[in-house]
Parts: sequence; structure tokens; C-alpha cells
Amino acid sequence: MSLIALEHLSKTFGSGHTAVKAVQDVSLDIKQGDIVLIMGPSGSGKTTLISMIGTLMHQTSGSVKIDGQIVTELSPSKLADFRLQNLGFVFQSFNLVAALTAEQNVMLPLLAKGISKAIARDKARKLLTKLGVEHRLLHLPRDLSGGEKQRVAVARALVNDPKVILADEPTANLDTKSGKEVTQLLCNIACGEGKAVIIVSHDARLRDVAKRVIIIEDGRLTKEEKGNHDANCPMEHKQHA
Ligand code: ADP
Ligand code: MG
Repeated sequence: MSLIALEHLSKTFGSGHTAVKAVQDVSLDIKQGDIVLIMGPSGSGKTTLISMIGTLMHQTSGSVKIDGQIVTELSPSKLADFRLQNLGFVFQSFNLVAALTAEQNVMLPLLAKGISKAIARDKARKLLTKLGVEHRLLHLPRDLSGGEKQRVAVARALVNDPKVILADEPTANLDTKSGKEVTQLLCNIACGEGKAVIIVSHDARLRDVAKRVIIIEDGRLTKEEKGNHDANCPMEHKQHA
């Protein structure tokens, strides 16, 4: 069974002669363990598409099913809980809480789930260590480099053990090297844990971290190619073991 099923998903902004068809008739199946890069130029509908998958925006037509649940059928309060349990988000602008340390930022989703502070801190530290920022646990976001901020954001996305990770232009505010490094880390950890990852980006270098590369043009998915993930991921054997 697919973990994510998009059926004839469309989004139109505005109406009449000013209407913008941002996403048009997108159907897509994503399985557990898939690492999907949806690549297209600016304005091609990437943010609109991933926002609908992430239940942050309503579609004009079509449907989004995640883990058997048609997400638009959930009430707003159930939806917030659904997101907390099932989805992890990574944004271009990191979206860390400025007043909280790296460690506290990663603890947040766990505390929201009612997990004790001690356990949350332990989990956050382990994950930040895995992401190579164990020397920055008590730093505030303003004292971190861009790459370090995104590592913290990735830890926050992973910490609740969601089935799905969604990333919108995760490398856009990073230099070439750290952008690729942090995305690679995300994909390798997700691969080892059998999570599904969807990255939308215009960054063609991310082909190396993805298993599936899907091209979006003018809101439509136009072709799919194989990514180079398997050649770059040391976790691969674990998943098939
Ligand atoms: P991308 O993320 O690929 O750059 P977007 O999904 O942000 O593309 O935008 C796709 C199209 O939809 C663009 O033409 C954009 O101008 C339009 N669009 C996006 N959001 C809105 C909005 N809130 N209102 C009107 N038009 C929008
Ligand atoms: Mg965008």
C-alpha cells in the first residue's frame, strides 16, 4: 500500500482571468522508504504541492491520502495532532525558535506530545549528535551557521519519528557544500529508518540524495527519473536486511 497517495490534485489561486493554476492534476504514489526529489524552476508549483501534501493548504480539487487517511476529512484539531504524529517539516528558512537553544528546539515536538523533559532532552541530544552538531547543543539559533541551523531543523523534523519528512528548498539559504551535506544526512537517516522523504527544490545537485527524481513544470509532473541515492547512502543495506 502506498504511504502517500495523491489523486488528481489541483490548486488554483484566484478566479476568472487572473486565476493561476499552480498545481494541475497531480497523481502520485509514494511508498515507505521512498526518497523523492520534486524538481522544477521557481514558480512551477513546488511549494503549493508540498504544502497540500503537508496538510498546510487546501486543494481546489483531488485528494491527499497519507497512511490510509484522507487528510481533508480530518477536523482542524485532529489535523494538528495528525501532523505532530506523522509529518516532519524542513523549511528553507529553518524556522527555529529564536529564544530557544538548539537542544530545546529539537525537544519541542516531543514536549508537545507530552513526553517528559528528561527523555526529550536525551532524544534531542542523540539526534543532534547523529547530525554532527553535538558541540552546539546549548547555542541559540543566532549563534549557529546556516548549515548548523538546518541540521538542528532536520533533527527537529526527525525527533518524533514521523513516517514522512517534507522539505521545501532545504538548501536554498545554504552554501553549496553545507546544503548538500545536510540534505544527504537527512536522506541517509530517513533511508535507514524506512521513512518517506519528499524534497521540493530547484537544486539539481539533490539528484544525488534522492531515489526518485520527478520533474514539475507549470504545476504538472512531467517525467520521472532515477536518482543517485543508492550510490551515496551507506544505510541502504540496513533497509533491505
Ligand atoms: P515554487 O515553489 O515552485 O516557486 P509556488 O508553488 O510558490 O512555486 O507558486 C506556483 C504559482 O502559484 C506561481 O505562479 C505563484 O505566483 C502562484 N502562487 C503561489 N502562492 C500564491 C498565492 N497565495 N496567491 C496567488 N498566487 C500564488
Ligand atoms: Mg517555493
